[in-house]
Amino acid sequence: MTTNTQKLSLPENPRHFGLYINGRWVETAGRKVMERYSPAHGVLVTKTTGGTEKDVNEAVAVARKAFENRSWAGLSGQQRADVLLKAANLIRDRAEELAVLETLETGKPITQSRGEIQASAGIYEYAAGAARMLHGDSFNNLGDNVFGLVTREPIGVVGLITPWNFPFFILSERLPFILASGCTVVAKPSDLTSATTLIMAEILTQAGLPDGVFNVVTGAGSVVGEVLSHHPDIDMLSFTGSTSVGKRVLAASAGNFKKLSLELGGKNPHVVFADARLEEAVDGVIFGFCFNAGQCCVGGSRLLVEKSIQAEFEHLLIEKLGRLRVGDPLDPETQVGAIVSDKQHETICDYIERGTKQGARLLTQGTVSATVKGLFVQPTIFSDVTSEMDIATDEIFGPVLSILPFETVNEAITIANTTIYGLSATIWTQNLSHAMDAVRGIRAGRVWVNTTISGGPELPAGGFKQSGIGRETGIYGVEEYTEIKATHIAFGPRTPWVS
Ligand code: NAD
Repeated sequence: MTTNTQKLSLPENPRHFGLYINGRWVETAGRKVMERYSPAHGVLVTKTTGGTEKDVNEAVAVARKAFENRSWAGLSGQQRADVLLKAANLIRDRAEELAVLETLETGKPITQSRGEIQASAGIYEYAAGAARMLHGDSFNNLGDNVFGLVTREPIGVVGLITPWNFPFFILSERLPFILASGCTVVAKPSDLTSATTLIMAEILTQAGLPDGVFNVVTGAGSVVGEVLSHHPDIDMLSFTGSTSVGKRVLAASAGNFKKLSLELGGKNPHVVFADARLEEAVDGVIFGFCFNAGQCCVGGSRLLVEKSIQAEFEHLLIEKLGRLRVGDPLDPETQVGAIVSDKQHETICDYIERGTKQGARLLTQGTVSATVKGLFVQPTIFSDVTSEMDIATDEIFGPVLSILPFETVNEAITIANTTIYGLSATIWTQNLSHAMDAVRGIRAGRVWVNTTISGGPELPAGGFKQSGIGRETGIYGVEEYTEIKATHIAFGPRTPWVS
């Protein structure tokens, strides 16, 4: 028995997961075994299965059948809500198992994983309510003999492709909404972090979801992801990942005009005005670029600070960063864990080198506990950055902050918008005019004022520009997975067309 404050130990017998199709596990025989090593410890933690084109075709056929037979779409909102509520309870029952797997596969701190699992259970509860709220519209103003109806129908079979940075939480920001709408699903999690998505399949079956409604095919993006994106029998694709792969998915979807929800990358600004409560802004900026070791799509990786307070703000940042606890993700004291993979680690280190080469001033590389081995990057801050430097334009996806000063509100808005992305922005000020000018001026799907990376399932998430298409979560998140049907009903005598 462990308590939430004890450091956990590594697992002795990693579980070997199969694929999950039609409400049961598919045998792994004859398929590639994918081994996942904890990025913080280098220890084997899970084995998953490399799905093939045939597996995807089978899963899509099963999902199609489950959609057509209306075993799910034909239920009432209340019946669908019952399943989602049971699923929320089962997530809570298995919360520690899910949190440990999430930490081992991603390298994120165990306290963070525990928080994400609990929050996910809450999202299933919210979506259960949304299943009962989903409704259309009516027009009673079309004349005495005509009535107009606008109804929403589930769009059909949805392909769901997710990334490695918040495997369970991002799944939870999509899946319960898709299910609430009445659709069926074939999911493909990142090959680095598949375990918790597979466990969710078990949970949903246990919660009473009919067989074939939720299927999981694990494996490589170049195989499973490509087949799903091109598949002629997928009606809609929900893709969360990088902008570059998002563009491939967009092109692949043209074959059958799939509807798309694309949640992509960001290069998000924090704008700090001189009148901000500086201690709070410093804390928020550090949280913004270090949370999840900087591997957070909405994390603030550019700091736009008013020139008159730049020196003071940089001093406060360095001072506070020294107290950040970077280390073993299995230790409940840890705030920043490991980087997910060798490849991501190399990318981040390469950008840090480029920042120095391109003339930015390295302000700090933070600290890492001396006992820590594995894939870690010290939180790093560059000052004197200009908008042309790679560290100011590219999504690094690591704990690296680029500081760019500004002198006027308009200049801050211009710098904030100097990016191909438009995912999020954070504004720190006590001046309402500054806040509203920046809220209106910055082109981003999510804006925070005097807080960052906060919120719940009520508000929609999504991006402007190359950060994506469509919205997830909120009532918008359920509607996104529906088609709209307009029906005219004439009930009086018909005026003849041919006399
Ligand atoms: P990625 O684009 O490399 O992979 C995302 C998913 O796509 C994975 O499951 C991967 O296996 C799959 N994939 C890879 N190649 C594919 C292909 N050719 N066709 C179809 N699928 C393919 O992204 P990642 O490295 O896993 O995640 C990090 C990225 O995700 C960052 O850019 C981050 O900003 C973004 N992200 C965005 C949001 C958001 O809500 N906007 C949330 C989280 C992460």
